[in-house]
Amino acid sequence: MFTLTDEQELLRDTVRRFVAEVCPPAQAKAWDETGTYPAELFSRMADLGWFTLPFAESDGGAGAGPVELAILAEELGHASFDITMCYISTLVAGLALARWASPEQRAELLPGLFSGRSRLALSMSEPGAGSDVSALRTRARRVGNSWIVNGQKTWCTGAALPNTLITMYVRTGDGATGRDGISLMLIDPESVGVELRKIPTLARGILGTYEVTLEDVQVPADRLIGPLDHGWDVLLSGLELERVLISGGYVGAAQQTIDEAVIYAKQREQFGKPIGSFQALAHPLADLQTEVDAARLLAYRAAHLLAQGKPCGREGSMAKLFGSETYVKAARWGMQVWGGYGFSTDSIMSFRYRESIVATISGGTSQIQRNVIARSMGLRPT
Ligand SMILES: Cc1cc2nc3c(=O)[nH]c(=O)nc-3n(C[C@H](O)[C@H](O)[C@H](O)COP(=O)(O)OP(=O)(O)OC[C@H]3O[C@@H](n4cnc5c(N)ncnc54)[C@H](O)[C@@H]3O)c2cc1C
Repeated sequence: MFTLTDEQELLRDTVRRFVAEVCPPAQAKAWDETGTYPAELFSRMADLGWFTLPFAESDGGAGAGPVELAILAEELGHASFDITMCYISTLVAGLALARWASPEQRAELLPGLFSGRSRLALSMSEPGAGSDVSALRTRARRVGNSWIVNGQKTWCTGAALPNTLITMYVRTGDGATGRDGISLMLIDPESVGVELRKIPTLARGILGTYEVTLEDVQVPADRLIGPLDHGWDVLLSGLELERVLISGGYVGAAQQTIDEAVIYAKQREQFGKPIGSFQALAHPLADLQTEVDAARLLAYRAAHLLAQGKPCGREGSMAKLFGSETYVKAARWGMQVWGGYGFSTDSIMSFRYRESIVATISGGTSQIQRNVIARSMGLRPT
């Protein structure tokens, strides 16, 4: 668990070179600021076969496991967490399809994902259903050979990228509430009755995140994925892997933030000395490096458990909690180390600061992760 295999090290070095060549941090910042869709980023990832990695060989995949994916997520996080998301968001939704879709649906949908030609966005959240996803109200009614969908979704990340289908959780059960009567459907955002509105955000501008309004949207019956009314099982089935991968992304982003702070602390001189020689800055940076290492160990522990087919709900939540909080802390200290220059929006540190702040919110807030951990300890926080 404490070392990587030769193959895993090779993968890590390949991703490092990829980040340096295709999406160095300054490039990620520029794409974020202009809300640019980086077509080349996706096509280069596809050329390297990364979108096929975790899928079963019988589906045309490479059968790689959670540890390899965590390595990818971490290394891409050095560019920015948003770049990690460019890789993992389609992948996590695609794995749900591989797990739950029919053979016909898999044959139709997976080749496009593997080649990078098509993408998936995930839509659970609604204005009234954030941390409590089970409060979702978007409704699908069966009429003949179609579903008619009405409702309001929000925070659907990447919904407007070219060739994207939305994997959307909707209420199908008549009169059902809570976790019952939820189903997963594929919605084409170009369908009549779907309207997207980009939410202006502090960061995460590459994929962008959207409100999705649905008014009498006609969805063919064969766009239902997995068992009718049992979408909650589908939703839970990918949660552990998702937490591992986003934790990997936060570790990479936090590490890069500290690296950027340390380089600056060695170069910048005041009172005739590098500012990093002042204990008041050196010690917090030493503490932060220790915390990033701890966050990395938590992420890889959860990945190893998952690779062995063992449950890792508690460990995944610990990794997400600590990884995200560490990214926020690293960026806060990074701003202090960079002094006034960090406050300029020209600086890479200002980008880390903007991007990190949502880490403890998206993908399940820190409070929700603590609830999961507390429950695993026999406590019942409300
Ligand atoms: C950049 C971004 C991208 C996103 N991408 C997606 C996406 O692609 N698809 C998608 O479906 N969703 C997405 N989301 C939504 C995200 O999952 C939610 O924002 C998150 O789950 C929190 O929900 P909320 O924002 O409604 O906050 P709320 O649930 O309203 O929470 C507000 C505050 O109350 C606290 N709180 C709530 N319940 C409890 C409790 N039981 N105990 C203790 N504290 C509690 C929270 O921790 C938080 O501090 C995204 C969000 C952001 C910001």
